[in-house]
Amino acid sequence: MIRIENLVKAFGAKRAVDGVSFAVERGEVLGFLGPNGAGKSTTMRMITGFFPPTSGRVSVGGHDVTESPLAAKRLIGYLPEAAPSYPEMTVHGFLAFAAAMRGLAGEARRKAIGRVVELCFLGSVLHQSIDTLSKGYRHRTCLAQALIHDPDVLILDEPTDGLDPNQKHEVRNLIRELGRTKAVVFSTHILEEVDAACSRAIIIDRGRIVANGTPAELRAMSAHAGAVTVHAAGASAEKLAALGRVEPVNGAFRITPADKGASGQLALAVVALAQREGWKLDALRTEEGQLDEVFRSITLPDTVKK
Ligand code: ADP
Ligand code: MG
Repeated sequence: MIRIENLVKAFGAKRAVDGVSFAVERGEVLGFLGPNGAGKSTTMRMITGFFPPTSGRVSVGGHDVTESPLAAKRLIGYLPEAAPSYPEMTVHGFLAFAAAMRGLAGEARRKAIGRVVELCFLGSVLHQSIDTLSKGYRHRTCLAQALIHDPDVLILDEPTDGLDPNQKHEVRNLIRELGRTKAVVFSTHILEEVDAACSRAIIIDRGRIVANGTPAELRAMSAHAGAVTVHAAGASAEKLAALGRVEPVNGAFRITPADKGASGQLALAVVALAQREGWKLDALRTEEGQLDEVFRSITLPDTVKK
């Protein structure tokens, strides 16, 4: 549904997006991660045809966004980063306006408004003006606008930004639900959202893709993924060293195997060793790896890496 190839956006001498390629199919939710200034919003603005790429191609539903902008845009729902809203309009007025802009009229418009009002929980504020809404409601009004024409493709720029934890949770669930039938890209710098809503994630840094995989694959890139931590009375680092690299952590030992794929056997080997040596085993845990560690290790300049 979305295909971008070697996308570049230069602002003067600076390449905000520098050769980004990826594809998203229907039924996928792609998390677009990266630190501030990485080029997420710029990439999304090019996908939605908000501005043209310096070079490279974007197609949506098979339509090139530069050559056939109307056909492409018809398929896209877009929640921009600083979502524009019309403070003096009521929620209903704004959604009716958004529906009209998408060519919906009469019964179709009425149905479309009813659908997004339900999806985004806007029933209780329908006749309130936008400037009197709390941030969460204002935000969901903008999200409803992006969904009004039931688009096949959703581009959501930081859709949970500024929401409280309950609202974040609701919006993530909504995104996951929408992703069953649509192709969704959403940007965030909150790593938990990758686990909560994404089938796949791309990490972008300084305009370039630095990682692309499922949440589990990204976690496995963590330095300690596959390590086994053992807490046992009598355990000795010297004996454990036969199984991998050993470090003391909070009264326990962490053993990192040379081969990350071998963590299952490693845990069994630790148990066997503990039995042979008569150690009293208290706790044994295999580390899944941490997304934030991966994120930091691949998006920080080398000088700040620890
Ligand atoms: P992100 O959304 O990942 O935080 P952006 O895509 O907004 O990052 O920005 C990427 C880089 O491009 C930043 O360095 C930003 O300052 C720069 N940039 C974005 N838009 C413009 C613009 N219209 N003119 C000049 N520089 C821009
Ligand atoms: Mg941004």
